[in-house]
Amino acid sequence: MQASTQSIAFDPEYQRFVAHRRDQILARVERAARVAGRDPSEVTVMAVSKTVDVDKVAAALAAGYSAFGENRPQELERKLGLVAQDPAFDGVAFHMIGNLQPNKINHVLACRPALIHSIASPELAQAVSKRCVARDIVQPVLFEVNVSGEQSKSGMTPEEAREAFEGMCALPGIEARGLMTMAPRNDPEVARETFAGLRALFDELASAAKPEVAGRFSELSMGMSDDFEEGIRQGATIIRLGRVVFDPEYPFDD
Ligand SMILES: *Cc1c(COP(=O)(O)O)cnc(C)c1O
Repeated sequence: MQASTQSIAFDPEYQRFVAHRRDQILARVERAARVAGRDPSEVTVMAVSKTVDVDKVAAALAAGYSAFGENRPQELERKLGLVAQDPAFDGVAFHMIGNLQPNKINHVLACRPALIHSIASPELAQAVSKRCVARDIVQPVLFEVNVSGEQSKSGMTPEEAREAFEGMCALPGIEARGLMTMAPRNDPEVARETFAGLRALFDELASAAKPEVAGRFSELSMGMSDDFEEGIRQGATIIRLGRVVFDPEYPFDD
């Protein structure tokens, strides 16, 4: 395969940056978790690689990240094609975190993402379920909820999620693992409310769920570069970090 013979560029200076930045991020994760009375190991720090190429994914993997997030099906396919045969990428897990159009579902499923975070409607849950059954696979998914009500955000309203929850959990071929949300930018107070709202909805759904559903319904994917500490304080188990991981210009101090 052509992809496997292509060598991945190695930039020692970038490697040092990513590793150092990771130490800074983990220190903040640890502090936020401790303040909230949580064990930092409950929080998976995902590197959102949507704006960088595989050489930077390789650098991040070498620095210790193992979960990567992509928001476009084509880019997920392209990157996985490049890394699939390369032993340097053993153990890498890609997550699908972006809008999923029905005509792209098969492309995404063929990549076998570790988790699809963006099941943003009951109809999409059904469409993904149908295609998983046809492929004879079980795909772990999160339900995306638009907690803040911001127009530009995708996701179910909390009310819609509540109503559709049981039916979506019963669909064959998908496994409900938890909830995902995005907070509006640049407002820490609104971010806090958004994440607290997702957490409350999660608790409500989990406590009403059948035991076999509740047993694996455990993930809260919330918090990005600007607001991950708030996410952790409100119970995030996955934070999705893009700029802070990969961009040396992103303002971030110890
Ligand atoms: C881009 C993106 C992120 C990461 O955003 P940053 O602000 O760069 O950390 C997280 N989640 C989703 C769904 C994204 O599209």
